Amino acid sequence: MNTTIQVYESVVGRPVLQQLRCLGEKLAGRRVVHVNSTREGGGVAEILNWMVPLMDDLGIDATWEVMHGTPEFFATTKAIHNGLQGFTADISPRAWEHYRAVNEQNAARLRPGLEEADLVVIHDPQPASLLALCPRRKGKWIWRAHIDISHPYRPVWKTLRPFVEHYDASIFSIAQFAQLLPHPQFIIAPSIDPLSEKNIDLSAQEIEAVRGQFGLDPSRPLLVQISRFDRFKDPVGVIQAFQLVKKGIPAQLVLAGGGATDDPEGAAVLDEVMEKAAGDPDIHVLLLPPDAHRTINALQRLADIVIQKSTREGFGLTVTEGLWKARPVIGGDTGGIRLQVINHHTGFLVSTPEGAAHRIRYLLHHRDNMTAIGNIGREFVRENFLLTRHLRDYLTLFFALLSGETENKIAV
Ligand code: UDP
Repeated sequence: MNTTIQVYESVVGRPVLQQLRCLGEKLAGRRVVHVNSTREGGGVAEILNWMVPLMDDLGIDATWEVMHGTPEFFATTKAIHNGLQGFTADISPRAWEHYRAVNEQNAARLRPGLEEADLVVIHDPQPASLLALCPRRKGKWIWRAHIDISHPYRPVWKTLRPFVEHYDASIFSIAQFAQLLPHPQFIIAPSIDPLSEKNIDLSAQEIEAVRGQFGLDPSRPLLVQISRFDRFKDPVGVIQAFQLVKKGIPAQLVLAGGGATDDPEGAAVLDEVMEKAAGDPDIHVLLLPPDAHRTINALQRLADIVIQKSTREGFGLTVTEGLWKARPVIGGDTGGIRLQVINHHTGFLVSTPEGAAHRIRYLLHHRDNMTAIGNIGREFVRENFLLTRHLRDYLTLFFALLSGETENKIAV
């Protein structure tokens, strides 16, 4: 991980870094504490891994605390997580009591630092009740929800909401994920790290080696979807679209995703994909290890078109990754894909396999447009979805909260 902001100058330019440094100066020495429930695994830990050192590099006294919990606590918070996303999750009063007790144990350990901090960012529901347990807090507290809580399972939200409503502000990833709360809410979209293994420029040699490794034909167009084997990612719909395209254009398809052995639902989806792809040598279903970042990077660069035909999606980082590689993206018309795929500018939004096939054919018959769209997509990501913008949003929010600028906007 890059821990100095300077390394991003070559990607985003000097003015972006100057702005970040300027915000850093305004927040210099301020104590910011992030709290989540795991040091590794999952998107939140991934963000905190770069964000905390970069905040520190900008002069902010940023630290990251991780909750300690019992298996019972994490079983309950998993149920809360599912309930917030709308799945039925019946959590007993005893389990809620244990949730509070574990938060209390963590509060006993973390209280001095949290109460003294200028800003506390609590990530997701696991540590949400810490606020109520730090009565002498001096700073502003923000609740950062990384998931879609717009249509929760009511009993879960009813119990969690009283913990959350006393925060000074909350942050959601996209507007559609938010809930009505009696404090200012902010939208901060996710981002990618342009210098990570997943996104950094690769040599032509390395890219070609991946082409050879998977037996892909350099003379025929390639469509690529990188995704967990999950029904909402609609890999079967992608195969249907591909089969329609193939009637007129000799194309190839890669569907690449992680091993699904520990996920019964994922294994069933993978079986279905294998069955639909059977007998077609132009469909390559690839099972990749969890650390296949450079391979995914190369596959996205080998693609003529990146596909993400989800029927339901959070933000859709694979879309961001595809756009960053200057590839047109054909994405499902849902969730955060709508923020990234703009018809005729960065790609096309589709709702059916026929729609996807239509757009794929159009692009493959208009190569010049494909290049232009790809270039717009890359600049669109540079402007909106790199970690420097993500950091700027956080720092701007911190500054606004500390200077009281959000105060008179609180709806009670
Ligand atoms: N990814 C990966 N290996 C896989 C499948 C996906 O590393 O086999 C990565 C992908 O490149 C992206 C992230 O996992 O960075 C998936 O994020 P996204 O928002 O697209 O979907 P999610 O899986 O969170 O629903």
